[in-house]
Amino acid sequence: MKVVLAKSAGFCFGVKRAVEKVYDQVANGKPPIYTYGPIIHNEEVVADLEEKGVRVVKDETELAQLSEGTIIIRSHGVGRRIQEKMEAQGLTVVDATCPFVKKIHKTVEAASEAGDTVVIAGDRNHPEVIGICGWSHTIPYVVSTLEEIETLPRTEKMTVVSQTTFNYKKFQELVEKMEEKGYHSSVVNTICNATQERQIEARTIAKGVEAMIVIGGKNSSNTQKLYDICKDECNQTYYVQTLVDLKTQCFPNVRSVGITAGASTPNNIIEEVHTYVRSKL
Ligand code: SF4
Repeated sequence: MKVVLAKSAGFCFGVKRAVEKVYDQVANGKPPIYTYGPIIHNEEVVADLEEKGVRVVKDETELAQLSEGTIIIRSHGVGRRIQEKMEAQGLTVVDATCPFVKKIHKTVEAASEAGDTVVIAGDRNHPEVIGICGWSHTIPYVVSTLEEIETLPRTEKMTVVSQTTFNYKKFQELVEKMEEKGYHSSVVNTICNATQERQIEARTIAKGVEAMIVIGGKNSSNTQKLYDICKDECNQTYYVQTLVDLKTQCFPNVRSVGITAGASTPNNIIEEVHTYVRSKL
């Protein structure tokens, strides 16, 4: 009988830093306090902050109504125009963009300033990618499939970056395809190690257990990816937001269980699930 808890489960460096910045603003900042979008993909944390008076600003229309207080940019980051808009409206801006994402902004900004076409491997609807696009001076291209490589323009200079949570193997395939097609590109692998490490560990654990639990918010793309990876290796893989979800499932009678969690899952939720599973075996 064994329960294996992934060492990499839970908050990554960037998310931990962003959440801490919000709690710090609650204690010491200039109210009212806002976050531009939910600070993380975790309903429990967002609800707790809401109770403490932190309001989530959904979009630019809501942003336009604000004229005072503090607004926190979450770890995904935002485009330059949005950030400038916040400042122009007289808000105190606390930038909690993950430094790894900020590095992509700078790469894209500098490359596009030098006249490069920017190609981003990622999901065009993801806030992080929308934010990255917003730092390019030239029209950026977002690709996620080999077919989309065919649609890229023939330009002299290209800089390729990736969404931090993009799948490494897929990124390599896209880059290889671009090379095959004869594109002259400068490739910067901006996939975050925290994501890679979490995915590798999840796969290794899932291979060796009879059931696997993946904890994270339903809107968290990195948790969804973890689930897919685990499901590939272990048929009995469960995706839960909290212990309540797990309790409502008919948890199987197994001899070994692995547990991992997405980057926005707080430790207390992981601990609750861990304790519960241990008590069941
Ligand atoms: S996954 Fe990586 S890039 Fe994204 S917030 Fe966490 S540390 Fe930053």
